[in-house]
Amino acid sequence: MQYRKDKNGNELSMLGFGCMRFTKKGNSIDIDKAEQEIMEAFRAGVNYYDTAYIYSGSEAAVGEIFERNGIRDQIKIATKLPQYLVGNNAALEKYFKEQLSRLRTDHVDYYLMHHLTDIAMWEKLKKVGVLDWIAEKKRSGAIRNIGFSYHGNTDGFLKILNDYDWDICQIQYNYFDEYSQAGVDGLKAAAARGIPVVIMEPLRGGKLVGMLPDGAKKIMKESGRNWTPAEWSFRWLYNQPEVTVVLSGMNSLDMVRENVETADSSLPSCLTEKDLAFLERVREWIRSGEKVGCTGCRYCVPCPRGVDIPGIFRCYNAMYTEGKTDGRFQFAQTVGMTRQPAFASQCVGCGKCEKHCPQGLPIREKLKEADRALRPLPYKIGINVARAFMLRKSRR
Ligand code: SF4
Ligand code: SF4
Repeated sequence: MQYRKDKNGNELSMLGFGCMRFTKKGNSIDIDKAEQEIMEAFRAGVNYYDTAYIYSGSEAAVGEIFERNGIRDQIKIATKLPQYLVGNNAALEKYFKEQLSRLRTDHVDYYLMHHLTDIAMWEKLKKVGVLDWIAEKKRSGAIRNIGFSYHGNTDGFLKILNDYDWDICQIQYNYFDEYSQAGVDGLKAAAARGIPVVIMEPLRGGKLVGMLPDGAKKIMKESGRNWTPAEWSFRWLYNQPEVTVVLSGMNSLDMVRENVETADSSLPSCLTEKDLAFLERVREWIRSGEKVGCTGCRYCVPCPRGVDIPGIFRCYNAMYTEGKTDGRFQFAQTVGMTRQPAFASQCVGCGKCEKHCPQGLPIREKLKEADRALRPLPYKIGINVARAFMLRKSRR
């Protein structure tokens, strides 16, 4: 296994174990199977294990597995505060204590504010006293490193990144999302500050493997590389020295072995210009099914009415390249959940954005079309209910 360093010089395995997708047996995690997979990864040198309060049964399962095998001191646990459930200072302690108990440990190596989508969420936590709480936990050693996981746009990511002396951050990033969410600009900004970056969704929830269109797979084959779609995705990430750990939700021994082998044999600059050109063709092929030719360059923002133009177009396109439900889910999870509403319906038609779009897109017209597709009435109601629940604490 190859390792990259965190801020304090600790070595983190380039492949991390994402503990969200263990196989289920009935309603619970199949713990014996999960144990085999975790121990296979551990023996291969994987030392970073990522879970969260809301991953059903996951913290308790990994806590049991680490204890059973006596490996707690040889691995790093990353878990996450369910910040959307936190309405007051006491809740910080309540969730953290419960997590230590589930994990059967007295400390968390990397504690992340879960699923921030804009700086307002971080501001809300500061209002309930999270800064003093973190300082005390770091002093006592109960939390070794503090970070956040992120799902909003690049601007929001940079604001949060620059607001605090973070030890680590986690972003969604893969060759298809190079210019969406935190994106390559976010990755580079974090690395420039010496903050390790953990990558989630390297395979875009499986879309860049099993559900990859045949045309895209054909292009990969033409490259002459004998790499699987998963290998292409991982190698594209490892190729970038700014990437510290790539998480994979591994739920078979074969998957663990393949991912370990890829991590073992990938170095920065392991992709040639020719390889990158093939991946560009793959991207273009996937994009050929898109509805709006938006490249995510962000020249059109900020919109004076706060519309997240590239975010909306990305999700609209995803409806046609990944499936309607997926596109709408991505929309609900990102644009739909920002503290400051960023919906297309806020557009007043001023036309400022269109003057800056290098693609010459009729943004106003396309926003209307995207909004109709992304937010049919039941989704609109669902998103409103979710917003009322997720954001209610910050209004108190
Ligand atoms: S036309 Fe609409 S989306 Fe474009 S800048 Fe004006 S308000 Fe924003
Ligand atoms: S300027 Fe045009 S291409 Fe660039 S993000 Fe905005 S809409 Fe997309």
